[in-house]
Formats: sequence, structure tokens, C-alpha cells
Amino acid sequence: MDKTELLQRIFGYSQFRPGQEELIDGVQAGKDVFGIMPTGGGKSMCYQLPALLLPGITLVISPLISLMRDQVMALKAAGVSAAYINSTLNGAQVQAVYRNLLAGKYKIVYVAPERLDYPGFGNVAAKLPISFLAVDEAHCISQWGQDFRPSYLRIINFIGSLPRRPVVGAFTATATKQVQEDVERILQLQSPVRTVTGFDRPNLYFEVLQPESKDKELRRLLAARSGKSGIIYCATRKKVESVCEDLQDRGYGVTRYHAGLPEEERSANQEDFLYDRKPIMVATNAFGMGIDKSNVSFVIHYNMPKSIEAYYQEAGRAGRDGTDADCILLYSGSDVSTARFLINNGSENEELDPAQREMIHKQDIARLEAMVGYCKTKTCLRGYILEYFGQKHPEICGSCGNCRGGFADVDITKEAQMILSCVKRIHDQLGYWVGVNLIGNVLRGSRNKRIQELGLEELSTYGLLKNRSRSDIHAMIDHLEAEGYLMSEQEHQTVRLTALASQVLYQGKAVEMKVAAEPEEPAPAIGSRKLAGEEADLFDALKELRGKLAQKAGIPAYMVFSNATLTDMAKKRPRTMSEFRKVSGVGEIKAAWYGTAFLKRIQKYMDENE
Ligand code: ADP
Ligand code: MG
Ligand code: ZN
Repeated sequence: MDKTELLQRIFGYSQFRPGQEELIDGVQAGKDVFGIMPTGGGKSMCYQLPALLLPGITLVISPLISLMRDQVMALKAAGVSAAYINSTLNGAQVQAVYRNLLAGKYKIVYVAPERLDYPGFGNVAAKLPISFLAVDEAHCISQWGQDFRPSYLRIINFIGSLPRRPVVGAFTATATKQVQEDVERILQLQSPVRTVTGFDRPNLYFEVLQPESKDKELRRLLAARSGKSGIIYCATRKKVESVCEDLQDRGYGVTRYHAGLPEEERSANQEDFLYDRKPIMVATNAFGMGIDKSNVSFVIHYNMPKSIEAYYQEAGRAGRDGTDADCILLYSGSDVSTARFLINNGSENEELDPAQREMIHKQDIARLEAMVGYCKTKTCLRGYILEYFGQKHPEICGSCGNCRGGFADVDITKEAQMILSCVKRIHDQLGYWVGVNLIGNVLRGSRNKRIQELGLEELSTYGLLKNRSRSDIHAMIDHLEAEGYLMSEQEHQTVRLTALASQVLYQGKAVEMKVAAEPEEPAPAIGSRKLAGEEADLFDALKELRGKLAQKAGIPAYMVFSNATLTDMAKKRPRTMSEFRKVSGVGEIKAAWYGTAFLKRIQKYMDENE
């Protein structure tokens, strides 16, 4: 079978992304390859597809356990036999993988670089027909990069120990020249086929905000994105803890990740995130490399990272499936000192001598300065990043905070009066102040038990804002607090009126609130931003079905089909299996496993709506 056919049959895609074809052709022709493509550019395809084309086995060196597990699971979901070997397997499990390997049961095997040193693995590897050795996240080999891993330096010895040198491929999203040179030199790539695709990610929207209160701004941002999955990066473990706790208390589906948590908790939390049980992850930069969750639709940086490289890598975890996603950085002056502190007190790399250390330190400070420049620039943010990576770009991209002119002031005087008056009336009736949730529920006309018990349905303000979403109302309450009309009391988590409130209630004082210049339609579902009306309804129905199927199969929802695939399905509305196969991201196996269920659901939707 040829490569385009395989791309369609196994992965369900009809076209290669930029760079993929050259690299795959290179491997097939027996040449080393070096793929430099941005996060989400589709690097895995450049070794997964050759693995299926070539005789024998493809060995993938991958730095992270989560990455291996994720990819092996996704391959299995597409019907490819694959396995991984890392420290999460016990002795018996490792032996079982070795046996299957020797019996030729896998086309593709992922290993952690540390494993290459195990004599047991060396013995097995020497007997295997390894055609292709792919080094993923290859920048880990360079001490100039962000994620230097000394164990990557062993790869070359391992290659030397094999009876026959396989084709070697290296893949990274890191753009700097120095790192690229290191990768080529240390891995001893032999005149590799190199492709450097553009670093632009057109589906990502960039913005820098410098809010007075990051916590409030964060809540405003989350309120406008309810139901979506995202990552919030913080600079320190302590900040992760406090942000996560605060959001949890407010009822958001959040979990956390940092190096200070026990291993079991880290992997449990990560899993909650991958499976959308907790759609929001609050984490330090320890979280993410190799997290291929494709439906991450925003990445918010609570703190400024230490470099543009780190920022672009972390922010780039949004929108991997190609649907629109937001990358928002909350900047404050104190972030600069935190970053400087982290650089000055970073983990000392014992393998380096003082001169090397000095040089790295200088470089880190220069990187930090470029990062601060990003936060302060008034020019196109996308342009700034591409410039940094040495890539040509238009002056204005039209889809970043600086190009788009940010936010518009909207008059919310009427809503403000309703909210304040509701707070007052609840207090008049009960004789005490209550919390934001109860106020919101009264305004929305909720029928919950507590409201009935307290007799709050009788209030004249009951149900006044029944057409607004919960998050809208909460955002407005937050804004009224920021403007000084409401005051929250920490101890009892209640909200009270201030003296200023009477200006709005009785003197007609206008209240304005900043909202995104192009307000998103009311709470669009994940990834459905480009869909309107009926298409969006169908998308939601398909999403629900996907959730059920994923649960039954015990895999994350995005592994059944990505949001991009569901979007395409909602647009195309296939009626037959052969039409279904034309949806982007639907391969042969997945069509066989899930096709009937989705076709039925689409039919049902059409019957109901025609
Ligand atoms: P990278 O490793 O470069 O960050 P991935 O390999 O994780 O990116 O791929 C990102 C996403 O792009 C995945 O969801 C993958 O299925 C998808 N993808 C890869 N190749 C193609 C293609 N040719 N057409 C459409 N989608 C693709
Ligand atoms: Mg990758
Ligand atoms: Zn721009």
C-alpha cells in the first residue's frame, strides 16, 4: 500500500500536512531525516506512517511516559499494534513485551531513553529487525534547549551497539539554530533530509493582558469559555495550589499538576484531564511535554514564562486539532522578578563546568528579556514570536490582541441595577447576606430547593436575568465588585452592597464592562466555534455520543474522534458508510468500530429537524 492510501485508511486524513511527505519519502528511501515543525504540526505521523510502510520494527525514543502511553493508546484506537517500555511496567510486563517483540507482533515500539542502557533491552534489540529509529522531542539532547535530558546523549551509543545501523530520524518543535546544530551533530545524522516548516499556528489567537487582579481576570476568561478544556500555567507550585483551590471552590472542573505531588496523584490528575473528567488543568511547566490532548481550546499563563521558546511550546498545546484556540498571557511586573529568581536559583546541572554555567545563565537572561518584550510590545504578537524564531511574517496578523484592538466597553447599567437590587432584596428578606451562587440562581430563576425553602421565588427580582448564562452573571457580579459596588466578605463567602451601590440603584449611574470585542456566541461547545445554529446542535449531539463510546471503550473522548473530525462530520452530515469515510480523521478501523453509531445519530438528528 502506498503512503497516501495508508494515511487515509489508518488515520483517516486525505492530505499530508506541510513537511510530512518529504520526511516520509526520505525515510522510505533509507535516508536519515530531521523534521522541525511546530507543536501540533503532525510530527508523529512522520514516524508512525513509515513504521507501517517499512519492514521490521520502528523504535521511537520518547522522553515522557505520558507521551508514550497516549500515543500507543491512540495507535491502538486506530487499529495499529504498538507497545511501550518504560518504568511503569513491572518485570513480567516488560518480559511479555520483549517476547511479543521477538515474535514480530509490533510494528512500532516506544522506549524511554534510560531503557537503552538496560542490558536486557540491549540483548533483545540486537535480535530485532529495527528499520527505523525515531527520536521524538529531539531538542532534549541539547543543553542549549529548554529540556536538556542527559539520558538522550546515550542514544548514539545505543545506535552504535546495534548490529546494523537503522535509518535515524529526529523530530522537534524547537526552532533555534544552536539546538538544531546540536541535534544533528550529537545524533550523527548522515546528510539528513531536513524540513523546517513555518512556525506559524494560524488557528491560535494570542493576547497579553495586564489586569489589576489576575484572579478576577482569570475567572472572567474562564466564564467566557465554559465547557471548554484548557490549561492554566503558573510559575510556582504554590501558585498552582492556590489558583486550583480557588477555582475548585467556585465550582470549576479543575485539577492540578506539579513536580511536588506524589507520582500517583500526578498521573491520576493528568488522566482526569485527558478524559475530560476535569476539563481544566492548573500546572507548572512540569506538565505538558508530550500531552497530545487535541481538544485543548485555551492555554492561559497566569505568570509570564522564562522565554519565548517556553511560552510558544506551552501555549502551542492549545488547538492541536486545528480548531480555533486562545493563548492568553496574564502579565505583571512581579512576573519578571519571579522569572529572574527562578533563573538564578534554577536546578544546577552538575555535568556543567562553571564557564558553561555562566554562559547558560547569560543566555537565560537574554531569553527572559525577549519574553518581557513580548508582553510589552504594541505590535503584532504573532509577528513578534515569528520574528524571534527568524521567520518572515506580515506586519499585521489580524488575530491577536494587539492587531484586533482587544476589548470594547459595553453598557450593563440595566443588568447592574437588577443584580444590585436582587442582592438588596435577598438581604431585606433574610436579614443576612448570601453568596454569589445563590444570587445568580435567584436571578436566573432557578427552582432549586434552597431557593424554595427560603421563599426567594417571591422576590420581584427572581428570574430577571433568566436569559443570561450563569457565567455571564458571575462575570458581571465580579465586575461590580471590582468597580466597588459590591464587596465580598472572605469568611462567610458572602457578597454585600457598598455605599456606592445606591448611585447605580437610585441615581442612574451608568456601568460599563469590558467584553471581548467580538463576543463569542453564547457558550459555544468545545471546538464548535466555527459552526452556527443547526451545525452546532448536531456537533453537540455527536459530542455526546462520542463521550458515551469513549467511556465504553475506556479511552479519552478525543481518541475516538477529534473535535476537528466532529466539526467536519457535522458539516458533511454523511448518510452512508462511504460518505462517512470521507470525513477528515475517519480511518478504516474507526469507521468500522464507530461508523454505524454515528450514522444513526446523524439520521436521527435529520429526522427530528426536517
Ligand atoms: P506534533 O507532535 O508535531 O506536535 P502531533 O503528531 O501530535 O503533532 O499531531 C497533531 C495533530 O495533527 C494530531 O491530532 C494528528 O492526528 C493530526 N494530524 C497529523 N497529520 C495530519 C494530517 N495529514 N491531516 C490532518 N491532521 C493530521
Ligand atoms: Mg509530538
Ligand atoms: Zn497580530
